[in-house]
Amino acid sequence: RDLAELGSLLVECRACPRLVEWREAAAANPRAAFRGQTYWARPVPGFGDDAARIAVVGLAPAADGANRTGRLFTGDRSGDFLFAALHRVGLANQPEATSSDDGMVLTGVRLVAPVRCAPPANKPTPEERRRCGPWLARELELLGPGVRVVVALGAIGWAAALRTLEEQGWPVPQPRPRFAHDAAVPLERPDGGTVTLLGSFHPSPHNTFTGRLTPAMLDAVLDHARRLADL
Ligand code: SF4
Repeated sequence: RDLAELGSLLVECRACPRLVEWREAAAANPRAAFRGQTYWARPVPGFGDDAARIAVVGLAPAADGANRTGRLFTGDRSGDFLFAALHRVGLANQPEATSSDDGMVLTGVRLVAPVRCAPPANKPTPEERRRCGPWLARELELLGPGVRVVVALGAIGWAAALRTLEEQGWPVPQPRPRFAHDAAVPLERPDGGTVTLLGSFHPSPHNTFTGRLTPAMLDAVLDHARRLADL
């Protein structure tokens, strides 16, 4: 099976009744700014380079962001901030992401998530995260040992990534490593090799409007990831 096949299977998943209902309700009642648009309203596959050396892990699609456009981080302010940074450090061919056919090409990077359907209040339940974990694990397995760095966005994304990898058989150190901006933790892959887990504050409006995360701070983490990945 390859990444495209995995994506085709993923988009058919309806394993979490609460999230299926939520993703479809968002499509039926779009925000005023998006009225008239057809929402994707399905699980959102990974996006980016099939030969990625860096995986960027968020938490889950936003109801009016990726759940609308069908592409992770595309169509909301967090994504706008992230794609602009990826472009500045040379990992994206353009700074703006607006839709799934906007010409965006990522080099060496793939955007993934531990939960693939938009959850109410952006909070999946532990059970929903566990149910979705095998999709992320399988994607990382298909990307293979070429992946050298996993950038986790936010303390919640960091914890979700670690729990998911642990449940999927990765030997995660105990106690689990603590999140910090630019924290770097080596993790063993179950199929051999090492991946560095790298933390970054989440590029949410809450963090970027308050200056907790500046463009220079995100650029520095992505640049760190690039160096660790030899890109
Ligand atoms: Fe399936 Fe994951 Fe969506 Fe649950 S969150 S319905 S497991 S794709």
